[in-house]
Amino acid sequence: RFISLEGGEGAGKSTQLRALARTLRERGLDVLETREPGGSDGAEAIRTLLLTGGADRWSPRAEALLFAAARADHIEKTIRPALARGAWVLSDRFLDSSRAYQGQGELSDSDIVALHRIGSADFLPDRTLVLTLPDAVAADRARARDGDHVDRIGGRDSRFHHAVADAFARFAAQESERVRAIDASGTTEAVTQRLVDALADLLP
Ligand code: C5P
Repeated sequence: RFISLEGGEGAGKSTQLRALARTLRERGLDVLETREPGGSDGAEAIRTLLLTGGADRWSPRAEALLFAAARADHIEKTIRPALARGAWVLSDRFLDSSRAYQGQGELSDSDIVALHRIGSADFLPDRTLVLTLPDAVAADRARARDGDHVDRIGGRDSRFHHAVADAFARFAAQESERVRAIDASGTTEAVTQRLVDALADLLP
């Protein structure tokens, strides 16, 4: 099974990915933890290009193409082989992050989805878990982690991040079978339990 974890900055994705992986391993599953952008040699190299050099390094269209290219390599080199050997793959971010972030500029949601179709033949997670927090709480958490670098690509304001959260909420409403919004408030353990519950129908 292929599961993606999504959410804005500071929602606790990385912590929850580790905790969810541990829980699934305790149930005897072979689990691969991975991330986007990245997750393969080539895609990690693209990640460095994307996350360094400042906010103005890439035009919005070039940025979207780089994310799509990184994802295509990640799928072919890492995700598909792991699924083929029967593993569960957990990815920190995937296509829905591109739809939420890159889909806010001059490219529409259908443009981003079209890039994904070209790059990766519409390959989708079996389930996408969106960690959801009130904006202010998320910004505080991200600041506590990263100092002032709340957003590692940079140059984005709170309105941008609010629109990202709205986009994720929209995906959960419109694609409710695949995309589930998960309340990310409370203890780490409580949130992990909500994630496991949202996978109940997929678990062996
Ligand atoms: O997952 P993480 O928060 O570490 O993401 C790294 C950076 O990449 C963040 O600043 C996030 O906003 C950005 N990002 C993006 N578009 C994506 C995926 C991540 O702008 N599709």
